Amino acid sequence: MYDVIIIGAGPAGLTVAIYAARGGKNVLVLGDKFDSQLAMSGRIENYPGFEGEGMELLIKMEEQAKKWGTKVVTSRVLDIVYEDEIFKIETKDEHFNGKVVVIATGAHPRKLNIPGEEQLLHRGVSYCAVCDGALFRERRVFVLGYGNGAAKAAYYLSNFSQVKVLCTKKRLRAEAIYLRELEKRGVEVLTGVHPIEILGDEVVKELCYSIEGNEIKELVDGIFIEAGSLPNNDLASKLGLELDDKGFIKVDSDCRTSMDHVFACGDITGGVRQVASAVGEGAIVGVRMGARDL
Ligand SMILES: Cc1cc2nc3c(=O)[nH]c(=O)nc-3n(C[C@H](O)[C@H](O)[C@H](O)COP(=O)(O)OP(=O)(O)OC[C@H]3O[C@@H](n4cnc5c(N)ncnc54)[C@H](O)[C@@H]3O)c2cc1C
Repeated sequence: MYDVIIIGAGPAGLTVAIYAARGGKNVLVLGDKFDSQLAMSGRIENYPGFEGEGMELLIKMEEQAKKWGTKVVTSRVLDIVYEDEIFKIETKDEHFNGKVVVIATGAHPRKLNIPGEEQLLHRGVSYCAVCDGALFRERRVFVLGYGNGAAKAAYYLSNFSQVKVLCTKKRLRAEAIYLRELEKRGVEVLTGVHPIEILGDEVVKELCYSIEGNEIKELVDGIFIEAGSLPNNDLASKLGLELDDKGFIKVDSDCRTSMDHVFACGDITGGVRQVASAVGEGAIVGVRMGARDL
């Protein structure tokens, strides 16, 4: 029986683990760090005290959690129930029991849901510039999106590809640093784009989109979709936790959910969805865990 079971091996979950394990609790983390958004984020330049690859930061966090006695099992949680005052958690191969559960399951990319998107996934369509960008060296790519994710992806891809941003809103809303760099590098940004269809057979060949009602078909080798993210809330729903209208878990200022003994932190609670905020919420939960009699 674990005192605390943390579901999610991203920055939020690993921060809880560091604090709770240092606080003397018997802690288990379930999740895959390579599946964390931080592993796909590329270079991080806005986390205080660290500038470098997201994966490097994540590995350090995991090492730190393990150093204080946290057990980390790289497994996906398939089911969770609360019975006889115990959380019973099931993965593909094992069962785990815990007294308190922390949900830190993060988020996943939002799809555009246009024809061709699913059929050509991994054949020119990608949701991760850092993972797949190198496959499009010296080739023509579009970034479809509207915010910081789109600007950051375009900035990264412009290091080695010919990039155009197709912004699906009236304005690309992103940190000034990315906007300045895109301008300096001559990256074209079209605004008010309405994507219609991704065309291709074996691989992506064209994107069909419209601007102010004018339909355009343009040749392209790769399409990177950066249309925001959606919460990984399956387990929260299984437990019957209260969610907001966008599906994020509702928490109070101590990251308590609507169910006793269940906490949530990081991107799964919504908000600004950054590494620093995930770590901040993780610290709140971890401190509470450390101080709790379990
Ligand atoms: C492309 C990109 C670039 C980014 N750039 C920046 C940046 O420059 N600066 C910044 O501050 N932030 C950036 N972010 C955001 C940042 O990565 C996230 O805010 C942060 O990773 C959220 O941490 P988290 O721990 O809440 O969730 P995540 O990092 O998403 O981790 C979620 C964890 O939950 C696990 N999980 C999910 N479901 C289950 C399940 N059923 N069972 C077990 N485990 C499960 C996953 O395996 C994963 O380990 C970027 C994100 C992306 C996608």
